[in-house]
Amino acid sequence: MKFDLHTHHFRCGHADGTIRDYIEAGIAAGLDVIGISDHSPYFGSPSEQAFPRIAMAKSELVHYVEEVLSLQKEYEGRIDVLLGMESDFFPEHAELYRKTYAAYPFDYVIGSVHHVEEVSIFNQGRWKGLAPAQRLASKSEYYRLIAESARSGIFQILGHIDAMKGNYPPFSEIAAPKEIDEALRVIGECGPAIEINTSGGTKLCGGWYPSDEILERALHFGVEVSFGSDAHLPARVADQRNQVAARLKEIGFEYWVYYKRREKVKVAL
Ligand SMILES: [Zn+2]
Ligand SMILES: [Zn+2]
Repeated sequence: MKFDLHTHHFRCGHADGTIRDYIEAGIAAGLDVIGISDHSPYFGSPSEQAFPRIAMAKSELVHYVEEVLSLQKEYEGRIDVLLGMESDFFPEHAELYRKTYAAYPFDYVIGSVHHVEEVSIFNQGRWKGLAPAQRLASKSEYYRLIAESARSGIFQILGHIDAMKGNYPPFSEIAAPKEIDEALRVIGECGPAIEINTSGGTKLCGGWYPSDEILERALHFGVEVSFGSDAHLPARVADQRNQVAARLKEIGFEYWVYYKRREKVKVAL
């Protein structure tokens, strides 16, 4: 059972192609399951579409859901199309997000921390001029938020849990083993899976999220794993899936998971 749960399309304003293009790319890549998981609207913002190049308008959500469900029907028997969403995690708006998702038949929601101290995790400028203690504080806050996202219970999967290295590779060298272990302990206890997300290759860091070192610690804490290419181009669907599976087996994982109607499905590696 081959799956990729993390794909985007034109609605977010920074991805190419239609949902159908990603489904067709999934079929061409030999997938059995493709999850559509576009970026969540900024539900907590007073504007209808706070950032047109980052996420869809609030009013677009219902059309997104309808389109995925209609394609799910159309492609039945060829590929299982799942309704997902990559959601931001803003602790101050958590209840609003929880309530909004409950109104739709999502198969799963991926929870991603994209903002720390109100600045994008991908913004290189955020590190400029910081002393070592301040860099450690930002990294600690990132992992504190990831743990809080796991505790919220809103998400079946947590997205790219070391993506702060994306445009700032030295992030990985900021030593924070206790903070990372604590986040992984909470994730293991609360139960969401973490994704291996292969979009690192589209950023300065290369490779995938999270690092093998974090994956080894995740296994130790009983954290389950899932897979997502985070494709913003149809050609990236299922990117590096086989390499990730091989690495996970080397590390000691025996299965990975996807979610259908919010129920976990285990797939042997
Ligand atoms: Zn995106
Ligand atoms: Zn993301």
